Amino acid sequence: MLVLKFGGTSVGDAERIRTVADLVRQALPKRPVVVASAHKGVTDMLFRMGQEALHGKINLEPLRERHLKIIRDLGVPETVMENLLDELANLLQGISMVKELTPRTKDYVASFGERLSVRTIAAYLAQAGIPAKAVDAFDLGLITDSNFGAANPLPEADQIMHWNIRRIEGVPVITGYVGKDKNGDITTLGRNGSDYSATIIGAAIGAEEVQIWTDVDGVMTTDPDIVPHARPLDQMSFAEAGELAYYGGRVLHPSTLIPAIRKDIPVRVLNTFKPESKGTVILRQTPIKQVVKSIGYKDDLFLITIVSTRMLMHYGFMAKIFEIFGRHRIVIDMIATSEVSVSLTTDSDVNLDQAVKELSQIAEVTVEPGKAIICVVGEGIKRSLEVPSLVFGALRERNIKVQMISQGSTQVNLALLVDSANVVDAVQALHDSFFDVQKPVIPALP
Ligand code: ASP
Ligand code: MG
Repeated sequence: MLVLKFGGTSVGDAERIRTVADLVRQALPKRPVVVASAHKGVTDMLFRMGQEALHGKINLEPLRERHLKIIRDLGVPETVMENLLDELANLLQGISMVKELTPRTKDYVASFGERLSVRTIAAYLAQAGIPAKAVDAFDLGLITDSNFGAANPLPEADQIMHWNIRRIEGVPVITGYVGKDKNGDITTLGRNGSDYSATIIGAAIGAEEVQIWTDVDGVMTTDPDIVPHARPLDQMSFAEAGELAYYGGRVLHPSTLIPAIRKDIPVRVLNTFKPESKGTVILRQTPIKQVVKSIGYKDDLFLITIVSTRMLMHYGFMAKIFEIFGRHRIVIDMIATSEVSVSLTTDSDVNLDQAVKELSQIAEVTVEPGKAIICVVGEGIKRSLEVPSLVFGALRERNIKVQMISQGSTQVNLALLVDSANVVDAVQALHDSFFDVQKPVIPALP
């Protein structure tokens, strides 16, 4: 079996959905399972509608229009969305009455995008002669924890989904992004979560491949918005793509590879606008032809510096610090320590004030916003002596100051902290030094 996941742009209008039908038809001999996102822009629209309802304003018209246009262009019956729009209207009414929009309610509101889109897509597939059935992932057993806005599947989801999906007649068209917790409340897996749904489902059915159909040619050497001549990569390893998904952010949801790694399922990133190009395949192991594969970045970070003379020769100090961050549910991205200080980065200031207050009782703490991590990714880095000097040489030439450095023990990633203002320059400089066709490719040592 094969999982075909179509992102928001790939199901963004009637024309794209016709392409989706062609791709599904070609995949029929491999028994495809479709996982779909909401039509492009709909999730954002839903989040706005939730906020507006909180302030007493309810207007379903733009959302109805957005869907109606696609439905009419495809010539499928308008009834596909009837019940869902009523349910959404009731929900928004409820929000405006109780004047409360909790993370749980937000997820419920956001879920309508995928629930609407799969019904339209399945109806169109059926009309195009491909027997298909729209299903909500939670009805197949995608049970998650109750971490609304960033839920994760529970282990038992695997088996349940395995049986349920195999029992569906025709091509299942399954909602990405959503699940349900054990209380029966709808959860979401976080923005871009449909990628994660696709691999969760792929792992559950033991798919031979998970295809992520998107609007770029694959995983690129860097963000093409910063470097227009960035190129797609043929192959990446799970470890490389995992680092990039986390730090580069743009192509895959950061957790996407976890289920794929667990079951060793290749993930292929493809372009719906250019179905003939071969995309990037992400596998357990790939031959190392280039030392560096890609330059990623993660912007809008906070740098927290904790200084204490008490740290010197004391055990338990780190434990204390991390206990505080843990209790406030603050996720740490990067860490560097010296004898008397610890520097850390995080991407959100939610709860940060309280954590800093507590930390200030045991150390001097400063928080600086406006930071970014640049990461240089490649399995070959661990075998190369040249990468660090090339990296710092390139940044030196552009007068970019590096505030923190980290290279983990897996050594797939060299991460650097810089000011946000330097991101574009740094990414361009690094891309030039590693991917300029004029320059020789750096060989990996054996
Ligand atoms: N529709 C959701 C979002 O916009 C999930 C996804 O597209 O993967 O984030
Ligand atoms: Mg996406």
